[in-house]
Amino acid sequence: MTYESAGEPTRIVVVGSGFAGFECARSLTRRLRGTDARVIMISPRDYMLYTPLLPEVAGGILDARFVTIPLSEALSDVELVTGRVDAVDFDARTVHVTDCEQGVEEVAWDRVVLTPGSVTRLFDIPGLAEHARGLKSPAEALYFRDQLLTQIELAERDTDPRVADARRTVVVVGASYAGTELTAQLRALADEAASRRNLDPAKIRFLLLDAADKVMPEVGEKLGDKVLEVLRSRGIEVRLGTTLTELGSEHVTLDDGTVVPTRTVAWVTGVTAGPLVDTLGLPTEKGRLTVRPDLSVDGHPDVFAGGDAAAVPDPKNSGSITPPTAQHAVRQGRALARNVAASLGVGDAKPYTHRDMGLVVDLGPGFAVANPLGIRLSGFLAKVVTRAYHLYAMPNAANRWAVAFAYLTDLIFPRPLVSIGLVTDSESRFAAGVEIGAQT
Ligand SMILES: Cc1cc2nc3c(=O)[nH]c(=O)nc-3n(C[C@H](O)[C@H](O)[C@H](O)COP(=O)(O)OP(=O)(O)OC[C@H]3O[C@@H](n4cnc5c(N)ncnc54)[C@H](O)[C@@H]3O)c2cc1C
Repeated sequence: MTYESAGEPTRIVVVGSGFAGFECARSLTRRLRGTDARVIMISPRDYMLYTPLLPEVAGGILDARFVTIPLSEALSDVELVTGRVDAVDFDARTVHVTDCEQGVEEVAWDRVVLTPGSVTRLFDIPGLAEHARGLKSPAEALYFRDQLLTQIELAERDTDPRVADARRTVVVVGASYAGTELTAQLRALADEAASRRNLDPAKIRFLLLDAADKVMPEVGEKLGDKVLEVLRSRGIEVRLGTTLTELGSEHVTLDDGTVVPTRTVAWVTGVTAGPLVDTLGLPTEKGRLTVRPDLSVDGHPDVFAGGDAAAVPDPKNSGSITPPTAQHAVRQGRALARNVAASLGVGDAKPYTHRDMGLVVDLGPGFAVANPLGIRLSGFLAKVVTRAYHLYAMPNAANRWAVAFAYLTDLIFPRPLVSIGLVTDSESRFAAGVEIGAQT
């Protein structure tokens, strides 16, 4: 069974603890139970981040801890190494790992599974990296919560009305599900803050921009129209076919030349594969690592990849690759486990395939849209389905419990208006090493 290193257990190294890596490691330990294989996961984080609920962390409904799944608890049979993989040596079969104190280590593998995910895609827009923030980490989510509450507070005592207005203006760029959910959650937090301060909520301005001409194209035209209607009914200005040309510390400039004074800018326009992919010297497609239908890398039968970092052929859409979603990452994680185990003689390999389960999108108080299995839902019913789905999909009982109680608390009590202020400026900035590409 473990024929790789005579006398030594087979070492399967999984790089990354996101949806794909987590699911792969979890399924591998089950598939290889009873063999002498060792599953080793290497990630800079000791948790798996449940990203779909980050907007609710930003909106103050959930604690950041609730959406971080502790690896030590959820993957108790996996050996965990906390560190970043900087390089993979395909001849020596090792990965080079750096830990948080810059200690380095070589970790040997017989199979390596590359799932380093993605980072926010930046464009070459002056001031973007300095003045905007993304939404890929708990620190970024907490930044938005704290920034919004702090700016509302400061605006109240500002003697210059123009500065006060800038403090009360939030610009979100990117109207796909993540940016739209973030806007809706921050709007709800701002409304709560306004009502406690006897402030007209209309004084807190929200602008949601997108270069495309639709909001949330992922949910189709009918639900997209409903979303637009709800956002506008909440006083959110939605400007489609619009993006930014420049950002400063106290303003942004739109591409029609309008200058909008603001101190809070969210950049949620999409992702690009994690920087590790560029270092591998392997073929890529749209910046993602090219893999075969069975998720192995051509010419390297012992190297596998999946999730946002990989260009996985989409069997349902010939000639395309699967979009970077958690739904695909989880299933690719399972497919990776199956095919890695098969490469060790346990079970049979199969090409990646999937069935579209639809999307759930929470849009703040009493409203969501969802299209489970193609059935279009909106309003309160969609809200119930959305919350139930997240509780079901969360891969750890303690996290599920915490989120369920936070939802219950949200039904009974107003949103807490607390900016704890533990996130430093550098922690909330875009991940180091993000690619600056040409604007398309
Ligand atoms: C705000 C937000 C909301 C979203 N909502 C949804 C949703 O509702 N539905 C949906 O389907 N998708 C959603 N997504 C998309 C989804 O989060 C991604 O598609 C998914 O996380 C991809 O999983 P992954 O495992 O490929 O990568 P990731 O989840 O990005 O995980 C990558 C992992 O690799 C680690 N890593 C990175 N570089 C290295 C390295 N060099 N060495 C070691 N480890 C490394 C990272 O620390 C991380 O643990 C959302 C994304 C965001 C940001």
